[in-house]
Amino acid sequence: MTPEELAERIRRGDRRALAKGITLVESTRADHRELTARLLELLMPYTGNSIRVGISGVPGVGKSTFIESFGNHVINQGHRVAVLAVDPTSALSGGSILGDKTRMETLSRNPGAFIRPSPAGQTLGGVTRRTRETLLLCESAGFDVIIVETVGVGQSETAVAQMTDMFLLLLLPGGGDELQGIKRGIMELADLILVNKADGDQQAAANRTVADYQMAVHFLHPRSRHWQVRVQPLSALKRQGVNEVWQTVEEYRQALTEAGEINARRAAQARAWMWSETADTLLMELKESDSVQALVSSLEQAVTEGKIPPTVAAKKLIDAFRH
Ligand code: GDP
Repeated sequence: MTPEELAERIRRGDRRALAKGITLVESTRADHRELTARLLELLMPYTGNSIRVGISGVPGVGKSTFIESFGNHVINQGHRVAVLAVDPTSALSGGSILGDKTRMETLSRNPGAFIRPSPAGQTLGGVTRRTRETLLLCESAGFDVIIVETVGVGQSETAVAQMTDMFLLLLLPGGGDELQGIKRGIMELADLILVNKADGDQQAAANRTVADYQMAVHFLHPRSRHWQVRVQPLSALKRQGVNEVWQTVEEYRQALTEAGEINARRAAQARAWMWSETADTLLMELKESDSVQALVSSLEQAVTEGKIPPTVAAKKLIDAFRH
Protein backbone atom coordinates (compact mmCIF):
# COMPACT_ATOMS: atom_id res chain seq x y z
CA MET A 1 0.00 0.00 0.00
CA THR A 2 1.31 3.46 -0.85
CA PRO A 3 1.37 6.20 1.81
CA GLU A 4 -1.37 7.92 -0.22
CA GLU A 5 -3.68 4.89 -0.02
CA LEU A 6 -2.88 4.34 3.62
CA ALA A 7 -3.56 8.01 4.44
CA GLU A 8 -6.89 7.85 2.62
CA ARG A 9 -8.00 4.79 4.56
CA ILE A 10 -6.90 6.21 7.88
CA ARG A 11 -8.91 9.37 7.17
CA ARG A 12 -11.95 7.24 6.49
CA GLY A 13 -11.54 5.78 9.97
CA ASP A 14 -10.43 2.31 8.86
CA ARG A 15 -9.04 0.82 12.08
CA ARG A 16 -6.85 -1.72 10.36
CA ALA A 17 -5.25 1.01 8.30
CA LEU A 18 -4.72 3.01 11.49
CA ALA A 19 -3.03 0.05 13.17
CA LYS A 20 -0.89 -0.41 10.09
CA GLY A 21 0.08 3.26 10.10
CA ILE A 22 1.06 3.03 13.76
CA THR A 23 3.19 -0.04 13.10
CA LEU A 24 4.96 1.99 10.44
CA VAL A 25 5.42 4.88 12.87
CA GLU A 26 6.92 2.55 15.46
CA SER A 27 9.38 0.98 13.07
CA THR A 28 12.99 2.11 13.24
CA ARG A 29 13.86 0.96 9.72
CA ALA A 30 15.20 3.81 7.59
CA ASP A 31 12.81 3.15 4.67
CA HIS A 32 9.89 2.98 7.11
CA ARG A 33 10.93 6.32 8.61
CA GLU A 34 10.68 7.81 5.14
CA LEU A 35 7.23 6.34 4.53
CA THR A 36 6.14 7.59 7.95
CA ALA A 37 7.32 11.10 7.12
CA ARG A 38 5.28 11.03 3.89
CA LEU A 39 2.24 9.63 5.68
CA LEU A 40 2.38 12.32 8.36
CA GLU A 41 2.72 15.01 5.72
CA LEU A 42 -0.39 13.76 3.95
CA LEU A 43 -2.38 13.57 7.17
CA MET A 44 -1.20 16.82 8.74
CA PRO A 45 -4.18 18.89 7.45
CA TYR A 46 -6.57 16.48 9.20
CA THR A 47 -4.92 16.60 12.62
CA GLY A 48 -5.53 18.87 15.59
CA ASN A 49 -9.24 18.29 16.08
CA SER A 50 -9.06 16.75 19.51
CA ILE A 51 -8.53 17.53 23.12
CA ARG A 52 -5.26 15.89 24.16
CA VAL A 53 -5.34 14.78 27.78
CA GLY A 54 -2.33 13.45 29.70
CA ILE A 55 -2.89 11.22 32.73
CA SER A 56 -0.42 10.21 35.40
CA GLY A 57 -0.27 8.74 38.88
CA VAL A 58 1.64 6.05 40.73
CA PRO A 59 0.94 2.40 39.88
CA GLY A 60 -2.18 1.27 41.72
CA VAL A 61 -3.77 4.73 41.96
CA GLY A 62 -6.46 3.63 39.51
CA LYS A 63 -5.39 5.00 36.12
CA SER A 64 -6.70 2.14 34.02
CA THR A 65 -9.90 1.91 36.07
CA PHE A 66 -10.39 5.64 35.51
CA ILE A 67 -9.62 5.54 31.80
CA GLU A 68 -12.08 2.69 31.44
CA SER A 69 -14.97 4.55 33.10
CA PHE A 70 -14.01 7.96 31.72
CA GLY A 71 -13.52 6.61 28.19
CA ASN A 72 -16.88 4.86 28.15
CA HIS A 73 -18.59 7.93 29.58
CA VAL A 74 -17.08 10.24 26.98
CA ILE A 75 -17.98 7.87 24.15
CA ASN A 76 -21.57 7.88 25.44
CA GLN A 77 -21.49 11.66 25.00
CA GLY A 78 -20.83 11.11 21.30
CA HIS A 79 -17.04 11.26 21.18
CA ARG A 80 -14.39 8.87 19.96
CA VAL A 81 -11.55 8.09 22.32
CA ALA A 82 -8.00 6.94 21.63
CA VAL A 83 -5.84 5.78 24.53
CA LEU A 84 -2.08 5.88 24.08
CA ALA A 85 0.69 5.26 26.57
CA VAL A 86 4.18 6.49 27.30
CA ASP A 87 5.97 3.89 29.33
CA PRO A 88 9.75 4.30 29.39
CA THR A 89 10.11 1.15 31.52
CA SER A 90 9.09 -0.79 28.42
CA ALA A 91 12.57 0.06 27.13
CA LEU A 92 13.98 -2.11 29.91
CA SER A 93 11.42 -4.87 30.13
CA GLY A 94 10.87 -5.10 26.38
CA GLY A 95 7.16 -5.25 27.08
CA SER A 96 4.57 -2.70 28.01
CA ILE A 97 2.74 -2.45 31.30
CA LEU A 98 0.58 0.44 30.16
CA GLY A 99 -2.28 0.43 27.70
CA ASP A 100 -2.62 -3.29 28.12
CA LYS A 101 -6.00 -4.30 26.74
CA THR A 102 -6.85 -6.64 29.58
CA ARG A 103 -6.65 -3.65 31.91
CA MET A 104 -9.50 -1.87 30.13
CA GLU A 105 -11.78 -4.64 29.16
CA THR A 106 -15.08 -2.93 28.37
CA LEU A 107 -13.38 0.08 26.79
CA SER A 108 -11.27 -2.07 24.49
CA ARG A 109 -14.46 -3.72 23.23
CA ASN A 110 -16.19 -0.36 22.69
CA PRO A 111 -16.26 0.48 18.96
CA GLY A 112 -15.77 4.15 19.83
CA ALA A 113 -12.42 3.44 21.45
CA PHE A 114 -8.94 2.70 20.19
CA ILE A 115 -6.29 1.51 22.65
CA ARG A 116 -2.63 1.31 21.79
CA PRO A 117 0.06 0.19 24.26
CA SER A 118 3.34 2.02 24.60
CA PRO A 119 5.91 1.23 21.91
CA ALA A 120 8.41 -1.09 23.55
CA GLY A 121 12.15 -1.49 23.49
CA GLN A 122 13.05 2.16 23.01
CA THR A 123 14.46 5.07 24.97
CA LEU A 124 12.12 7.64 26.48
CA GLY A 125 12.94 9.91 23.55
CA GLY A 126 12.03 7.16 21.10
CA VAL A 127 8.80 6.30 22.91
CA THR A 128 7.85 9.99 23.06
CA ARG A 129 8.43 10.55 19.37
CA ARG A 130 6.40 7.49 18.35
CA THR A 131 3.56 8.44 20.66
CA ARG A 132 3.40 11.99 19.27
CA GLU A 133 3.19 10.62 15.75
CA THR A 134 0.59 8.02 16.74
CA LEU A 135 -1.46 10.81 18.33
CA LEU A 136 -1.55 12.65 15.01
CA LEU A 137 -2.62 9.49 13.16
CA CYS A 138 -5.46 8.94 15.66
CA GLU A 139 -6.66 12.53 15.21
CA SER A 140 -6.73 12.18 11.46
CA ALA A 141 -8.73 8.97 11.89
CA GLY A 142 -11.41 11.00 13.69
CA PHE A 143 -10.62 10.41 17.35
CA ASP A 144 -11.48 13.65 19.12
CA VAL A 145 -10.46 12.78 22.66
CA ILE A 146 -6.90 11.51 22.97
CA ILE A 147 -5.74 10.18 26.31
CA VAL A 148 -2.01 9.71 26.86
CA GLU A 149 -1.29 7.71 29.97
CA THR A 150 2.02 7.45 31.78
CA VAL A 151 3.40 5.88 34.94
CA GLY A 152 4.20 8.12 37.87
CA VAL A 153 7.95 7.74 37.64
CA GLY A 154 10.84 9.66 36.15
CA GLN A 155 10.63 12.09 33.29
CA SER A 156 7.80 10.56 31.33
CA GLU A 157 5.31 13.00 32.89
CA THR A 158 7.16 15.95 31.43
CA ALA A 159 7.26 14.23 28.05
CA VAL A 160 3.49 13.64 28.20
CA ALA A 161 2.75 17.18 29.39
CA GLN A 162 4.69 18.41 26.35
CA MET A 163 2.46 16.56 23.90
CA THR A 164 -0.94 17.22 25.50
CA ASP A 165 -3.27 20.18 26.15
CA MET A 166 -4.26 19.25 29.68
CA PHE A 167 -2.61 17.18 32.39
CA LEU A 168 -4.53 15.12 34.96
CA LEU A 169 -2.80 13.83 38.07
CA LEU A 170 -4.42 11.03 40.05
CA LEU A 171 -3.69 10.83 43.78
CA LEU A 172 -4.69 8.52 46.59
CA PRO A 173 -6.59 9.57 49.72
CA GLY A 174 -4.33 10.43 52.66
CA GLY A 175 -2.81 13.83 53.36
CA GLY A 176 0.13 14.78 55.58
CA ASP A 177 3.22 12.91 54.53
CA GLU A 178 1.85 12.26 51.07
CA LEU A 179 1.65 15.97 50.52
CA GLN A 180 5.39 16.17 51.06
CA GLY A 181 6.06 13.03 49.07
CA ILE A 182 4.84 14.24 45.71
CA LYS A 183 7.52 15.84 43.65
CA ARG A 184 6.87 19.50 43.22
CA GLY A 185 7.72 19.46 39.56
CA ILE A 186 5.03 16.89 38.85
CA MET A 187 2.39 18.77 40.85
CA GLU A 188 3.12 21.85 38.80
CA LEU A 189 2.30 20.01 35.59
CA ALA A 190 -1.23 19.27 36.75
CA ASP A 191 -4.24 21.21 35.46
CA LEU A 192 -6.63 18.94 37.34
CA ILE A 193 -5.85 16.85 40.41
CA LEU A 194 -8.12 13.90 41.10
CA VAL A 195 -8.21 12.18 44.46
CA ASN A 196 -9.28 8.69 43.47
CA LYS A 197 -10.85 5.93 45.58
CA ALA A 198 -13.19 8.44 47.21
CA ASP A 199 -15.56 5.66 48.23
CA GLY A 200 -16.32 3.33 51.16
CA ASP A 201 -13.86 3.52 54.04
CA GLN A 202 -11.68 6.01 52.23
CA GLN A 203 -14.40 8.55 51.49
CA ALA A 204 -13.68 10.80 54.48
CA ALA A 205 -9.91 10.63 53.99
CA ALA A 206 -10.41 11.48 50.32
CA ASN A 207 -12.47 14.54 51.16
CA ARG A 208 -9.77 15.75 53.54
CA THR A 209 -7.12 15.19 50.88
CA VAL A 210 -9.17 17.18 48.39
CA ALA A 211 -9.39 20.07 50.87
CA ASP A 212 -5.64 19.89 51.62
CA TYR A 213 -4.69 20.04 47.98
CA GLN A 214 -7.16 22.79 47.24
CA MET A 215 -5.12 24.84 49.71
CA ALA A 216 -1.79 23.59 48.41
CA VAL A 217 -2.38 24.37 44.73
CA HIS A 218 -2.67 28.06 45.52
CA PHE A 219 1.01 28.06 46.39
CA LEU A 220 2.02 26.47 43.12
CA HIS A 221 3.16 28.36 40.10
CA PRO A 222 0.16 28.09 37.73
CA ARG A 223 0.73 26.71 34.24
CA SER A 224 -1.75 29.13 32.75
CA ARG A 225 -3.01 32.61 33.55
CA HIS A 226 -6.40 31.49 32.31
CA TRP A 227 -6.86 28.46 34.51
CA GLN A 228 -6.94 27.85 38.25
CA VAL A 229 -5.90 24.27 39.00
CA ARG A 230 -8.81 22.26 40.40
CA VAL A 231 -8.89 19.38 42.85
CA GLN A 232 -11.80 16.94 42.68
CA PRO A 233 -12.77 13.69 44.39
CA LEU A 234 -13.26 10.64 42.20
CA SER A 235 -14.27 7.04 42.45
CA ALA A 236 -13.17 5.47 39.20
CA LEU A 237 -14.49 2.13 40.43
CA LYS A 238 -17.97 3.36 41.47
CA ARG A 239 -18.01 5.84 38.60
CA GLN A 240 -18.62 8.78 40.87
CA GLY A 241 -17.16 12.09 39.79
CA VAL A 242 -16.43 10.85 36.28
CA ASN A 243 -18.94 13.16 34.61
CA GLU A 244 -17.53 16.03 36.68
CA VAL A 245 -14.07 15.27 35.31
CA TRP A 246 -15.40 15.49 31.76
CA GLN A 247 -17.17 18.77 32.56
CA THR A 248 -13.92 20.19 33.89
CA VAL A 249 -12.05 19.04 30.79
CA GLU A 250 -14.62 20.85 28.64
CA GLU A 251 -14.45 24.01 30.73
CA TYR A 252 -10.69 23.94 30.56
CA ARG A 253 -10.73 23.49 26.84
CA GLN A 254 -13.14 26.36 26.40
CA ALA A 255 -11.21 28.72 28.68
CA LEU A 256 -7.86 28.04 27.02
CA THR A 257 -9.23 28.00 23.50
CA GLU A 258 -10.85 31.40 24.00
CA ALA A 259 -7.57 32.74 25.33
CA GLY A 260 -5.77 31.34 22.27
CA GLU A 261 -3.60 29.30 24.57
CA ILE A 262 -4.28 25.82 23.21
CA ASN A 263 -3.02 26.88 19.79
CA ALA A 264 -0.08 28.78 21.24
CA ARG A 265 0.92 25.79 23.35
CA ARG A 266 0.67 23.39 20.44
CA ALA A 267 2.75 25.71 18.30
CA ALA A 268 5.45 25.87 20.98
CA GLN A 269 5.30 22.08 21.35
CA ALA A 270 5.73 21.66 17.61
CA ARG A 271 8.79 23.93 17.58
CA ALA A 272 10.36 22.06 20.49
CA TRP A 273 9.56 18.77 18.77
CA MET A 274 11.30 19.96 15.59
CA TRP A 275 14.49 20.72 17.53
CA SER A 276 14.50 17.50 19.53
CA GLU A 277 13.91 15.57 16.31
CA THR A 278 16.83 17.42 14.71
CA ALA A 279 19.09 16.74 17.70
CA ASP A 280 18.11 13.05 17.89
CA THR A 281 18.66 12.47 14.19
CA LEU A 282 22.01 14.25 14.15
CA LEU A 283 23.22 12.34 17.18
CA MET A 284 22.16 9.05 15.64
CA GLU A 285 23.97 9.85 12.39
CA LEU A 286 27.04 10.93 14.30
CA LYS A 287 27.12 7.73 16.35
CA GLU A 288 26.71 5.62 13.23
CA SER A 289 29.40 7.34 11.17
CA ASP A 290 32.53 5.27 10.49
CA SER A 291 34.99 8.00 11.40
CA VAL A 292 33.30 8.49 14.78
CA GLN A 293 33.05 4.78 15.46
CA ALA A 294 36.78 4.41 14.84
CA LEU A 295 37.44 6.82 17.72
CA VAL A 296 34.69 6.00 20.21
CA SER A 297 36.23 3.23 22.25
CA SER A 298 39.63 4.87 22.70
CA LEU A 299 38.06 8.21 23.59
CA GLU A 300 35.57 6.65 25.99
CA GLN A 301 38.43 4.88 27.70
CA ALA A 302 40.53 8.03 27.88
CA VAL A 303 37.59 9.90 29.41
CA THR A 304 36.88 7.08 31.84
CA GLU A 305 40.50 7.12 33.01
CA GLY A 306 40.51 10.88 33.31
CA LYS A 307 43.19 11.27 30.64
CA ILE A 308 41.31 13.82 28.56
CA PRO A 309 38.52 16.17 29.57
CA PRO A 310 35.08 15.16 28.19
CA THR A 311 34.73 18.48 26.39
CA VAL A 312 37.94 17.82 24.47
CA ALA A 313 36.81 14.27 23.63
CA ALA A 314 33.45 15.61 22.43
CA LYS A 315 35.21 18.09 20.18
CA LYS A 316 37.31 15.28 18.68
CA LEU A 317 34.15 13.27 17.94
CA ILE A 318 32.45 16.22 16.31
CA ASP A 319 35.55 17.06 14.27
CA ALA A 320 35.76 13.44 13.10
CA PHE A 321 32.09 13.56 12.07
CA ARG A 322 32.50 16.83 10.18
CA HIS A 323 35.49 15.73 8.13
P1 GDP B 1 -3.24 1.73 37.81
O1 GDP B 1 -2.05 0.88 38.15
O2 GDP B 1 -3.02 3.16 38.19
O3 GDP B 1 -3.70 1.57 36.39
O4 GDP B 1 -4.43 1.23 38.77
P2 GDP B 1 -5.66 0.24 38.47
O5 GDP B 1 -6.70 0.94 37.68
O6 GDP B 1 -5.13 -1.03 37.93
O7 GDP B 1 -6.25 0.03 39.94
C1 GDP B 1 -5.49 -0.53 40.97
C2 GDP B 1 -6.44 -1.13 42.01
O8 GDP B 1 -7.21 -0.11 42.62
C3 GDP B 1 -7.42 -2.13 41.39
O9 GDP B 1 -7.60 -3.20 42.27
C4 GDP B 1 -8.69 -1.31 41.26
O10 GDP B 1 -9.86 -2.09 41.33
C5 GDP B 1 -8.60 -0.38 42.48
N1 GDP B 1 -9.32 0.87 42.24
C6 GDP B 1 -9.22 1.67 41.15
N2 GDP B 1 -10.05 2.73 41.26
C7 GDP B 1 -10.69 2.59 42.44
C8 GDP B 1 -11.68 3.37 43.13
O11 GDP B 1 -12.17 4.40 42.67
N3 GDP B 1 -12.09 2.91 44.35
C9 GDP B 1 -11.58 1.79 44.89
N4 GDP B 1 -12.05 1.42 46.10
N5 GDP B 1 -10.67 1.01 44.28
C10 GDP B 1 -10.21 1.42 43.06
